[in-house]
Amino acid sequence: MRQRKVKNLEEKYAKYEEFLVYHPEACKGNWQERVRKAGCTGLYLEVGCGKGKFISEMAERHPENFYIAVEGNRSVLLRAMEKIREKGLTNVVFVPDFIVDLTDWFRDEEVDGIYLNFSDPLPKNYSAKKRLTHRSKLVQYERILKDDGIVTFKTDNTGLFEFTIQEILANDMKIHELTRDLHHCEYNEDNIMTEYEAKFSTLGENIKRVKFGRREGRKKMADTSFAAYNGRTVPKEDKIFGISGRAKAAIAAKGKENVINATIGALLDDEGKLIVLSSVDEAVKSLTPAEYAEYAPIAGTPAFKEAIVKAALGDYQPKGYVGVVASPGGTGSLRNAIANYSCPGDKFLTHDWHWTTYKNIAMEMGRDEETFDMFDAKGNFNLEDFEYKVNKLLRIQDRLVIIINTPANNPTGYSLSDEDWDGVIRVLNSTDPAKKVALVADVAYIDFAGDEKEVRSFLPKLEELNSNILPILAYSASKTFTFYGCRCAATICLAKTEEVRDEFVRVLSFSARASWSNCPRGPQEVIAKIYNNPELLARVDEERAGFRNMLLSRGHAFEEEAAKVGLKMVPFRGGFFCSVPCEDPDAVSKKLEEVDVFVVPFTKGVRVSIASISEAKCRKLPKLILEALEA
Ligand code: PLP
Repeated sequence: MRQRKVKNLEEKYAKYEEFLVYHPEACKGNWQERVRKAGCTGLYLEVGCGKGKFISEMAERHPENFYIAVEGNRSVLLRAMEKIREKGLTNVVFVPDFIVDLTDWFRDEEVDGIYLNFSDPLPKNYSAKKRLTHRSKLVQYERILKDDGIVTFKTDNTGLFEFTIQEILANDMKIHELTRDLHHCEYNEDNIMTEYEAKFSTLGENIKRVKFGRREGRKKMADTSFAAYNGRTVPKEDKIFGISGRAKAAIAAKGKENVINATIGALLDDEGKLIVLSSVDEAVKSLTPAEYAEYAPIAGTPAFKEAIVKAALGDYQPKGYVGVVASPGGTGSLRNAIANYSCPGDKFLTHDWHWTTYKNIAMEMGRDEETFDMFDAKGNFNLEDFEYKVNKLLRIQDRLVIIINTPANNPTGYSLSDEDWDGVIRVLNSTDPAKKVALVADVAYIDFAGDEKEVRSFLPKLEELNSNILPILAYSASKTFTFYGCRCAATICLAKTEEVRDEFVRVLSFSARASWSNCPRGPQEVIAKIYNNPELLARVDEERAGFRNMLLSRGHAFEEEAAKVGLKMVPFRGGFFCSVPCEDPDAVSKKLEEVDVFVVPFTKGVRVSIASISEAKCRKLPKLILEALEA
């Protein structure tokens, strides 16, 4: 709405001289003097203060802070000054101008916080550079803000909000708090409504708010880095590769019998050689050039899609609509599930004991991670914390991706029981039906977790989920077919309606095209061949069952010895790994390296890959770990 021009503006402005700063550039570097004179300590800025409801309430609530309110529309600003005078406030001044470059008005790190309330969305693409959250402006905010300074941006405009999130990430700033429905979440407690906000929220518009600031250490990084950061923290060295590199060096120097390398996430025989199912090897060698060299369709070949669904679901025949899209490994499935069922700036939820790559995938796409405690004090699945975190996130987000890695979780070897699943379903069915939840079961280790039927007993339960929850399986061929480097997997949804299934296939195919395009065709043909040949399938199943039993024996040997020496472990049910909780996993893993034992430190403990060491070494390890813990 256009503001009527106030008559005799100059005359009226003369009455408010004490509030007005006509030359903010003259104050650059000296604002602290005004702050001190007003008896305040903090310096805050509102860009575009409008009629001043926000700034006047803020200044009243926080007499310890000094506020500079900027507004280029002078008629509107008059109302704001009236409010401040009525309230008798002395901790606000006004700049009657539009901002061009804030670094002309403030020196570096002079300001404690910046507020941007309902800025002009300027929806036309050619106006993007003029938006107050364009990256060119964010660079200015970052410079004038103190190290821990925060920008608070609030809008009802979805386009501007999503644009802002992208700009924040592109500028490598850190998101501290984000909600797309401020009035219905816990962040609302500190909210002060602007005039505009009160009007538009009653019309049913969701108010969105994001708080962001400088990323720790960013100045140094920005100075030295050629690459864009885009919201990521990229370590110098991958931790696991680093440790396994040292393990390999120790083996070369001292001999494999004198070193325990329990870092590798692949199935090795007792001699440390990679196990490849001979039946799978045969099928690979039977591929014709056309079978492996031709492009595969983006979502996978029809025969592969049929076969991989049989492999993932076993005997289970879902009542709903099954959608399937090929991906290069379970990693690709997880990537595209997060990409399509969450928004930039959102958090996804997973358990605290988890594969660290989840967080990297999320960071790469401008998402973040939230975890719930996987176990309670008694070592049971912690449904209470799961429920608390689901509800907490759904109060601030409209969508939520939840990743549960079961059966045979990496790094613990834990599998959710049927009762655990019942609890998960109960919690999710009590969520607000207007919110959309993608429940991703990362079943990477399902075929090495135990009896093939028993480990799939949770699948029919997924049908009990309400229609605002979409169950998705990230099913990897890496472990199941000893196919790690072939990069083969599928993302499978069990949708309640055809529309949701079709959309799943469409959006995941789009993401596939935009990231890796199509997946390798050779492994898809191999899996199709296996499932089209009952004899070959029986051999694959039989061979795998043998290795599964070998793995379970290794795990149980570790468990037995741990119990004997009194080493506490996380509950183990099957799979490639088991874990020992400890206070300082890095220190324990370092100590173990001194005796040529290599394990992987996670946040809450050390992970032992029983898949890569013999049963004899599994028996030896618990005592050595206990000694390292005690040291
Ligand atoms: N999920 C978990 C828990 C994993 O540990 C892995 C690999 O180690 C994967 C998914 C994905 O594996 P890939 O991309 O090789 O299929």
